[in-house]
Amino acid sequence: MKAARLHKPHSELKVEEIERPPVRHNEVSVRIKSAGVCGTDLHIQDGEFLEVPGVVGFHMELPRVLGHEISGVVEEVGSSVTGLKKGDRVVVDPILTCGVCYYCIIGERTMCENRGAYGESRDGGFAQYGSFLASNVHRIPDSVGFDEAAIMADSLATPFHAMNLLDVKLGDKIAIFGVGGLGANAVQLAKLRGAVTFAVDILEEKLKVAKELGADFTFNAGNTDPVKAIKEHTDGRGVDKALEMVGGKATVEQAVACVRRGGKVGIVGGSNESFCVGIRQVLWNGLTIVGCYGSMVEHLPRMLELVATGRINLRRIITHRFPLDRVNEGFRVLRQKIGNPMRVVIVPE
Ligand SMILES: [Zn+2]
Ligand SMILES: [Zn+2]
Repeated sequence: MKAARLHKPHSELKVEEIERPPVRHNEVSVRIKSAGVCGTDLHIQDGEFLEVPGVVGFHMELPRVLGHEISGVVEEVGSSVTGLKKGDRVVVDPILTCGVCYYCIIGERTMCENRGAYGESRDGGFAQYGSFLASNVHRIPDSVGFDEAAIMADSLATPFHAMNLLDVKLGDKIAIFGVGGLGANAVQLAKLRGAVTFAVDILEEKLKVAKELGADFTFNAGNTDPVKAIKEHTDGRGVDKALEMVGGKATVEQAVACVRRGGKVGIVGGSNESFCVGIRQVLWNGLTIVGCYGSMVEHLPRMLELVATGRINLRRIITHRFPLDRVNEGFRVLRQKIGNPMRVVIVPE
């Protein structure tokens, strides 16, 4: 089968013929129909996942088939698999957990000590086929397209989890820094929860889409100080909650600076950078800073419902589609922000 693998950091993915992965007894083989390209894939390409400061137990080996947002059709099921059959349309939950460590037992699967993910610790979606644990594979309704299903696996699931972690409620004011794929979905989810949303980005086109998807206020951080603007719109107090979707030092610091006393900041964007926040700024203002990684397994059926009933519009944020042979073009589009990319999907033929 054809697959796109990363062989070494800072290089293009190599589209090559490899063995179709075997199907173990508890796995299903999926003919992949769509796989989303995430900002995380660019970080992996840059070698950031080979050694992550401050995090132990994560190990990524190369070569690797990248791609953690995966949808497709079940091709074959392992001998002990029940509930899935050949021909089922499915989405793959990319997060891999051991089920037996301290964190899995206490129900905090995203903190699993042996955590991994398809497209990171195991081969992912930029290939014609993939073998995935049946417990990670969920059927999708006919009304949800393959591209939508694919990007749901992270670009919707992660902000969905963040909404829960920040407990975004009716009447809350929330600032969202970075309204690309995940951020645009965060805007939609916050809106559904009845929050007043402030979208911040440096690209006018993304702010336009955020507005279309329900952002109440938009600020271009390229020509406005977003913290000042947000304070001006909140009687000088700041917002109740802020989500940082970029993974940048400056944007994390802005997110912390724009919340009110007692406010909560969720970090969703990832990088190996550090940020600088005053100890007393956190102490005296009673701030909470939460890392919002991954999602919980029970979120998937709920998200499918939101997409199937049109409450969440994922089609609007899919801006580019490329066949597997042109996967590197997809990466380039996202990295160099060519043609205002929101979500790029790879469609193995
Ligand atoms: Zn991702
Ligand atoms: Zn575990």
